[in-house]
Amino acid sequence: MDIRSSAIHDVGGFEGKAVKKYMWHLYYSGTDVVDASEAWTSGHVGAGICQDCGNYMPGNEGDFAVVVEQRIPAKADMFSMGRLSPSIMSARLRKLLPERINEFFRFGDVYLGDSSRKMESHCAFVGGAPWVLLFGDQPAMMDGAVVADAKIAACPACGVKFGFGRGNRHADTSVNVIHEISWTEFGGMLISDDIMQPLRGIQLKNVRVEKIEIR
Ligand SMILES: [Zn+2]
Repeated sequence: MDIRSSAIHDVGGFEGKAVKKYMWHLYYSGTDVVDASEAWTSGHVGAGICQDCGNYMPGNEGDFAVVVEQRIPAKADMFSMGRLSPSIMSARLRKLLPERINEFFRFGDVYLGDSSRKMESHCAFVGGAPWVLLFGDQPAMMDGAVVADAKIAACPACGVKFGFGRGNRHADTSVNVIHEISWTEFGGMLISDDIMQPLRGIQLKNVRVEKIEIR
């Protein structure tokens, strides 16, 4: 999406017509991943890493760090460890975001191979749990059949939730508290127009920017 051509926060505004609210969703758009090191993974399974969904949820307090086996491409502004949490962000992108992102997100150091080689180019991030669920406007399909009633799925082991549905995505304020900077189930960032301003016109690499309706 060209963010410059769709820089509309509120549409509608005609008398009697509801004004829709939108935010910007930024998440990793690529398919390549880096692997977490065996030692890091085995040290965190059952202590942050869910054995079922594989996501790493270090909680809302304290420092965390990850150790990966491969280099993260220097220019990638977002990257993946093959799980939705944590995601990886470039130092460049982090600098473009306001200081108060620290109220909503936690950043962890990324090490290459072992805990002596810290990567200055990238950091890992998680948001304050629970993350914001995203729902599609059309019902989900499973094995070729429409799943009409299902709206939310949860990991049976850790309870982390996921929204259902295809098509245009939206977030729902009756399901989640949505802040000006929120974490999403894609391991992405959901940000207000104000937070988006410094990013406009900047070509972020490996980052998909989509407009999400807030209902
Ligand atoms: Zn889980």
